[in-house]
Amino acid sequence: MKRVIFVNILILLTFAGISYWSEEKERLRETLSERAKEQEVLTDSGREQGKSTQEEEEEAQMDPKEEEKPAEAEEPKKDYIKWVDFGVSKFALAEAYEYDRDSYGTKAHISWIDLLAYTAAYTGGDFHNNQTVCQHMDQLKEMIGQGEELSKVVKDLEYFPYYQEAYGAVLGGMVGEYEIEVPTGDKKKPKTWEKRYGLKAFSPIARGFPYNDYDDFGSSRSYGYKRNHLGHDMLGQIGTPIIAVESGYVEALGWNQYGGWRIGIRSFDKKRYYYYAHLRQGFPYQPELREGSVVLAGDVIGYMGHTGYSTTEDTNNIDETHLHFGMQLIFDESQKDGDNEIWIDCYQLTNFLYRNQSETARNDDTKEWRRVYLMKDPSAEAYERTADYSMYP
Ligand SMILES: [Zn+2]
Repeated sequence: MKRVIFVNILILLTFAGISYWSEEKERLRETLSERAKEQEVLTDSGREQGKSTQEEEEEAQMDPKEEEKPAEAEEPKKDYIKWVDFGVSKFALAEAYEYDRDSYGTKAHISWIDLLAYTAAYTGGDFHNNQTVCQHMDQLKEMIGQGEELSKVVKDLEYFPYYQEAYGAVLGGMVGEYEIEVPTGDKKKPKTWEKRYGLKAFSPIARGFPYNDYDDFGSSRSYGYKRNHLGHDMLGQIGTPIIAVESGYVEALGWNQYGGWRIGIRSFDKKRYYYYAHLRQGFPYQPELREGSVVLAGDVIGYMGHTGYSTTEDTNNIDETHLHFGMQLIFDESQKDGDNEIWIDCYQLTNFLYRNQSETARNDDTKEWRRVYLMKDPSAEAYERTADYSMYP
C-alpha cells in the first residue's frame, strides 16, 4: 500500500506544477481514500455482503483509517459491573447514613455511598469489624472536613470507583430530599407536610406487624431444581401489609410457579429490581396495581402469604408464611434475566431499614390496608408517569 501511495505521489508531482500543490494535495487525499476503500472491499468482500446501500454510503463517508481497524473495534466495548457481593453491615449502613444526613448542606457533607465505598476500598468489601469501619470513615470525614476534595482523596484508591458504582446501584434511591406527612398532635389538623433530607426507603414490613428473620441468603432450595436462595425471607402472619421499599414502577405482577403471587418493582433509574413473593392466597395485591403502575416508597403493595411452589395459580404450597424479599442489580439490561443475574444479600439492609417502617391503617369496608402518612418523592415526580393509576387518593 505504501509503495502505491508513493508512486501515485510521484506521478502527480510530475504532471502537476509546484504552484498547484496545495489544491492537488487535497484531491490526492481523496483519490487515495477511494483506492483504500476499493482495496478494503476486495480483500474483505465476504464481510461486505448483505450490506444495504445506506450502510455502504455511510461507510464511504468514513475515514479510511477507521475502516482498517478490525470489525470488533468499530463498536464501543460495553464495560459494566458483572458481580457484586453486598457485605455492608447494618452498623456500617447506620454510621454512614447518619453522617450523610447530619452533614447535609454543609461543606463537610459526604454521601453515605462514598463513605462506604471508601471503607470498602481498604477492606475489600469486608465490614465485619466495626472498629476498622469507624477508623476508615473517620479518616475520610476528617479529610473532607479540612476542605480536601473527594476526587483527590480517592485518586490512588484503585477499587474506590468499583465500590462507588456497586454500592451506588444498591443504595442510590434510598436517601435524598422528600416531603412526608407527619403527626402534629392537634386533633383538628392531625397531619402536616414536612420537607426532609434523609432515608426515604422503607422496611418491606409495615409498622406494628411482627416478623422473624435470619441471614438465609445463598442457602439451598430444592423445589423444581437445585438452586441457591437468592433473597431474604421474613416470617410473619398471613395478611401482614407488604410495603414498597423504594419508589418505582411495577414491572411484573402475577403468578410464578416458584414465587407464587409476586410483584416485581423496578427503580426509576432501572438499576434495582425488587421482588416480593409468596403473597396471600385470594387477595395478594392492592387491587389497583397493574404492570406499569407507579408506587411510592412506603405504599402498601400487597399482603404476606404462603403461595408458590406450584404450577397451579393461587395454591398455598409453602410451609411457613413469609415474605420472600429479593433485590437484583442491573448494570446492563442483559443481566435482567438468565445466567448473569446479580442478586444481593438483603439481610443487613432490611435490618437497617427497620428504622423506617410505614404506618398503615385498615379500611373496614374494603378490608384493605393503606399508608397513613403520604409522601412526595421527587424521583417519582420526575419519572414520566406511564401509569393509569397512582397510589395518591
Ligand atoms: Zn425466600
